[in-house]
Amino acid sequence: MMPTRIQRRRTRGWRAPEGAVYVGRGTRWGNPFRVGAPHPHPDENGRPIRDRAEAVDLFELHIGPMGMHEYDDDKLAALRAMAGRPLMCWCPLDQPCHANVLLLCYALAAQIGRLKQLVDDATRQAEAA
Ligand SMILES: [Zn+2]
Repeated sequence: MMPTRIQRRRTRGWRAPEGAVYVGRGTRWGNPFRVGAPHPHPDENGRPIRDRAEAVDLFELHIGPMGMHEYDDDKLAALRAMAGRPLMCWCPLDQPCHANVLLLCYALAAQIGRLKQLVDDATRQAEAA
């Protein structure tokens, strides 16, 4: 199955597909940047985050592929464990959603794990020299 995003529903009788992972708020994968909350960059003077697209952009910058170097080993491992599974959020499928960013992240997580290992090895070698 292609990794995909699923819209979670409150409809009675609706069941999440098998293997789907809920990544909304209340989980470690939720987007901390909310529409209407103060923008985190000092240059923006605390203006509200405009819309879903901006909230997802912030997620991509800070938690997504560009922010993944800040992930600890535990979080990278958890991300790798989700690889290939559908991700579920409340966002309508025709709207931007941080889950789309996470779908990219789990492919990158394996590579980042390897990069971290290389850096750690190089650091150990430099210290031993
Ligand atoms: Zn979403």
